[in-house]
Amino acid sequence: MIILVDMDGPLADYEKGFLDIWREKFSDLDFIKLEDRREFYLHHDYPKEMSENIRSICSAPGFFLNLPAMAGAREAIEEMKNKGHEVFICTSPMNEYTNCVLEKYQWVEKNLGLEWTKKLILTKDKTLVQGSILIDDRPIIHGAGQPTWEHILFDMPYNRDVDLKQRRLTWGNWREVLGM
Ligand SMILES: [Mg+2]
Repeated sequence: MIILVDMDGPLADYEKGFLDIWREKFSDLDFIKLEDRREFYLHHDYPKEMSENIRSICSAPGFFLNLPAMAGAREAIEEMKNKGHEVFICTSPMNEYTNCVLEKYQWVEKNLGLEWTKKLILTKDKTLVQGSILIDDRPIIHGAGQPTWEHILFDMPYNRDVDLKQRRLTWGNWREVLGM
């Protein structure tokens, strides 16, 4: 089957990357631990007056490129591929795309290998991409199309409060959840 895997969250550890920089750059400000994150978007969890601080981190050169890889992610997608599935990385770039778009490619080459850059789909609307499943940490995915994929939630503290019907997975239990 065609498996679409979101990048920020499932593959790249956006939360750790962000928090490490926040704690260094804004050491005088409060921060929210990953376990205490409740909203998908960082700027919905942090006070409004800190929105610019968040933006300054995420749009800075090197932010995306230097995100750590999620433990078990590479092994999981390689195993899916080796089981005969078509695996694509399906990611939505930031509106402030200048660094983000290039660095997503660089991140994939650095962390997954050059071959995976050929499997990278950048789109603002994932409902227009065909697939059997989409593994994504975003709780609700809307778009102009009628998705062909089943959305499987990549489990994160910030998507647990929502009343969702999707199946959930982590890189620890993906084989059981997907029946592979
Ligand atoms: Mg994501």
